[in-house]
Amino acid sequence: MWPPLIFFTLLILILLQFLWQERRFRRQRERARQEYNDASFQQQQKVIGQAQAQQQALFNSMIEGVLLLDRDWRIQLINQSLRELFDVAGEISGQTILEAFRLPDLSELAARLKKEKTIFDVELEVRGKKKRCLQVNASAVVDRDGLEQGSIFVFHDLTRLKELENTRQEFVANVSHELRTPLSLIKGFAETLLDGAKDNPEVATRFLQNIDKHTDRLLFLIEDLLTISRLESGQIALNCHPVELNFLVERVTEDLNSLAREKEIILDNQIPKDFIAVADADRLQQVFFNLVENSIKYGKAKGRVTIGGRQIADHKIELFVEDDGMGIPPEARERIFERFYRADRARSRETGGTGLGLAIVKHIVQAHGSKVSVTSESNEGTKFFFTVPAKI
Ligand code: ADP
Repeated sequence: MWPPLIFFTLLILILLQFLWQERRFRRQRERARQEYNDASFQQQQKVIGQAQAQQQALFNSMIEGVLLLDRDWRIQLINQSLRELFDVAGEISGQTILEAFRLPDLSELAARLKKEKTIFDVELEVRGKKKRCLQVNASAVVDRDGLEQGSIFVFHDLTRLKELENTRQEFVANVSHELRTPLSLIKGFAETLLDGAKDNPEVATRFLQNIDKHTDRLLFLIEDLLTISRLESGQIALNCHPVELNFLVERVTEDLNSLAREKEIILDNQIPKDFIAVADADRLQQVFFNLVENSIKYGKAKGRVTIGGRQIADHKIELFVEDDGMGIPPEARERIFERFYRADRARSRETGGTGLGLAIVKHIVQAHGSKVSVTSESNEGTKFFFTVPAKI
């Protein structure tokens, strides 16, 4: 049987038992009042109270929100999860759904339940402090004699699931778009070559260079996609050892020197030689590579990119990469760490950016127990910071 259905059936059984016990408790109370003296009546009350508290605790321990209505469609029980889902504070027993929740959609659902007796998988949007998407299952509760005793509503919070689904769809759409652009260009150049351009050596060389450039872009994109997917799925375990930071940054600046020279940018490694971090050297190198490469790409021609650090409290080293380039607009500063977000789309494409560099940086820095942050001034420059544990 379908798992939610099994769960729902079980819940109904628990509730039937709850209702049956409630009735029994009531009868017992009456009988107790008649048959026993004050002392034994109080003892009986205590036992009943304990059993009721146990039942309430059982409902409160559930992740799903549960709402139980009595025969007159008034609230008999609401568990803790449902209180949190609907931001309900205070006593609402005895109120109608509309009085308690002020949600016409939910009252309509109750009206539907009156007619249909069961409702499965209805999605309900709740706009409280946070917009939530709930899946509601509901059923009339019938006792052993077939008499309706009330109804039960069970609410599953689908908000996180929906968010993940949206992110996944957005990601697939972005990846397809990113792959399609260079592929259509490559196809365009190849077709033009086949149509005759191949017979003109000068044009053919230019087109082949373009094909080469866009193929590189595809390779970088696939490489970055693989890295980000491994980082996000937690498949990459950090291999942390003492790392000489100045030496590590030196390797990065050597790799990027030719790119910097094209814009006559000076790469200035100011990290003190005795700074030793405990980190995954390869991953940390990737962080510096992405940040310094961006500083060159978005930096000012004939400008300077500075890489530095300082010892801070708690055995940490704060590192930074700073440029004197175009800067990042205030509204984009938080978003640049999202996958495929680009503040300057045209410039990013022109420089062959994948839109994933900073998302990779964010994940690696997080895996080292820190958070990457940025400060920037329009047309003055940008500075990225993060910390790494220092070797003690
Ligand atoms: P991209 O491949 O587009 O460079 P990133 O994830 O590395 O992707 O960066 C995201 C965006 O952040 C870039 O497209 C750019 O708009 C902005 N950005 C990153 N670094 C800088 C910088 N040093 N100066 C200005 N803008 C930057």
